[in-house]
Amino acid sequence: MNLADSEEMFAQLAARGFGYTENLEEADVVLINTCTVRDHAEHRAVSFLGRLGTWKREKQGRRIIFAGCAAQRIGNQLKKQFPFLDILSGAKEIEHFGDTLEKSGFFPPSTPQGETLSPGLTGYVTIMRGCNFACTYCIVPTVRGPIKCLPHTAILEQGRAKANAGAKEIMLLGQTVNAYQDGAVSFADLLNKTSEIPGVERVRFTSPHPIYFTPQFLAAIKDNPKIARHVHLPAQSGSSKVLAEMKRGYTREILLEKIFALKEVGFQISTDLIVGFPTETEEDFNQTLTLVDQAGFSTAYCYKYSPRQGTVAAQMKLHPQNVLEQRLDILLNKVRGLAEAAYQAQVGTLQEVLMESADKGRSSGSFWVKTKQSHPVGSIVRAEIEKADGTLLFARNEL
Ligand code: SF4
Repeated sequence: MNLADSEEMFAQLAARGFGYTENLEEADVVLINTCTVRDHAEHRAVSFLGRLGTWKREKQGRRIIFAGCAAQRIGNQLKKQFPFLDILSGAKEIEHFGDTLEKSGFFPPSTPQGETLSPGLTGYVTIMRGCNFACTYCIVPTVRGPIKCLPHTAILEQGRAKANAGAKEIMLLGQTVNAYQDGAVSFADLLNKTSEIPGVERVRFTSPHPIYFTPQFLAAIKDNPKIARHVHLPAQSGSSKVLAEMKRGYTREILLEKIFALKEVGFQISTDLIVGFPTETEEDFNQTLTLVDQAGFSTAYCYKYSPRQGTVAAQMKLHPQNVLEQRLDILLNKVRGLAEAAYQAQVGTLQEVLMESADKGRSSGSFWVKTKQSHPVGSIVRAEIEKADGTLLFARNEL
């Protein structure tokens, strides 16, 4: 999501005559687009900003823009701490980034011609901003505000532009992406319409919320092979009690029901799990372990709970660090090998592979596949899978 936002902001700078560089010494402007979901990400952005003081002093006219979620949360405080910071643009302001540049007086007016960043094989398209949930550990609703769905016409237009620029895969983005609705156009409609854009071979999306996976959604996309059969579905906990305390909006039973329904139409499911939420007991933690057994995730990313200032859970009493570490270790041992097992299960199947290099690409279920022959980058190849080695599939033959 941040990559998509950065591209959008860069387009505004490009319309004012700027080109792209990652070389700090040749840059006239530094745009720091930040994340605040975890403390660590915010610290890194702020410490980078601090180091830019010297860079700015070295040459007259250099400008620093601090944007995104951390700018929304602590921007005013940073402006005082680092007076050399020129422009703040919080996460809620991204759509108006052009106006922000205009008002600053530091930039020339925009012109229609400007460099665009090549999307590569995957074109990221933001379809909604914000979130209507209020998970008790999460800072996102505070910094991004409630859901705002972008018009489907503008989204499809962006998809077409990315496809014309060479993208073969479109990734639709939103905080609870499958809650998308624009008048009569549902999320399933949008996925199907995106898949019909000439040149688009595959459509992915992230991040979904379990409750929006309805039978109607699955029926609407079931027969569309261009919709990738992999979804990253954050479960967070296997305990219905903890899920309620997190205010996730589903129980373990509902979550499993959704997972099984997704698997029924061929989805691979990866997930996020948090250990040591303040109210999590040993029994709750054991339920997360049994969820891993039952759900059959293709991968699980596991995190120790860490409080975010300004959230409800940050007021709760923390578990001691050793409890967090012990639980994380146990869970990591449990999930180790999930990916390898998921790869192994693909042996003997036929996979549609989108080639990302001459002899390697990704399947619809997001498995890496090494092909026997060379193929053009961006082409779709049907590959018979002969064997798996760790997290790589090897094709016997391509059709
Ligand atoms: S669904 Fe919950 S965790 Fe996800 S962004 Fe919204 S509040 Fe945060």
